[in-house]
Amino acid sequence: MKLLLLSRNPRLYSTRRLVEASEARGHSVRVINPLRCYMNIATSNPEIHYRGERLEDFDAVIPRIGASVTFYGTAVLRQFEMLGTYPLNESQAISRSRDKLRALQLLSREGVGMPATGFAHSPDDTDDLLRLVGGAPVVIKLLEGTQGVGVVLAETRKAAASVIQALRGLKAHFLVQEFVEEAGGADIRCLVIGNKVVAAMRRQGPEGEFRSNLHRGGSAELVRITPRERATAVKAAKVLGLNVSGVDILRANSGPVVMEVNSSPGLQGIERATGRDVAGMIIEFIERNCQPGRTRTRGRRG
Ligand code: ADP
Ligand code: MG
Repeated sequence: MKLLLLSRNPRLYSTRRLVEASEARGHSVRVINPLRCYMNIATSNPEIHYRGERLEDFDAVIPRIGASVTFYGTAVLRQFEMLGTYPLNESQAISRSRDKLRALQLLSREGVGMPATGFAHSPDDTDDLLRLVGGAPVVIKLLEGTQGVGVVLAETRKAAASVIQALRGLKAHFLVQEFVEEAGGADIRCLVIGNKVVAAMRRQGPEGEFRSNLHRGGSAELVRITPRERATAVKAAKVLGLNVSGVDILRANSGPVVMEVNSSPGLQGIERATGRDVAGMIIEFIERNCQPGRTRTRGRRG
């Protein structure tokens, strides 16, 4: 196969591993910065150009689109979809998962467990919003944050009200969520490929930190997940329409609850913690599923 990897940095662990795995399995692969792609969308014959060259004839495209470039990155990916190139994850599924509120709405519609979550625009309803999610302590999150930045634990009603007031002042969109204290600063990252959890790790935040993100100094270890956790992770990935994803689950008293679904999950933490060749399994998935024009969202409004 002729593969294209959309990534801004060829030196990143995940990018390097995907290149390695592609080549090891006999495929050619090019890494291209999506921000350097430009497009002709005015004709019936869509084109994508990169540094003066026309990009065409790729069998599949692997998007590794960072949260800060979601808008342009998904536009480039959509253009490849219009050419009929098979996307490992579709542009529309990536957009869905990047907006935490939209993702949670979709998951709740399909009955996937999640922490009680509220969202409001008007400053007049803060007290009632806090009551809706069970009162303080609550977790307040920016809708498009990542790596734990923009996630705040407000331990009292007063603290929550002032954080909310500050965010409103900045005109930021956020959600308010029940704090799952019993998770003890840990979460479970399930790496889902197709309809299987191929690797899972337990991440634990450092002492005194409720966020378990590895970028916030958390540590990771191999974990055995329960059949219910497995089913929850697979269902969450399926609801969002992601072929490859990192589903983050908290172990709540009521059972597994999904916090978020990542469409470009990092491979370093999970490969190190589990010893599994996740990159190889991703390329194998493409081998099995890649067919020209196999994009569900082709031409549809997203
Ligand atoms: P990000 O996209 O920034 O990673 P998350 O929603 O995944 O945002 O939150 C970051 C971390 O904060 C999670 O990995 C988890 O450890 C902790 N966390 C988030 N929401 C809750 C919650 N409702 N209850 C308990 N811990 C939470
Ligand atoms: Mg997270």
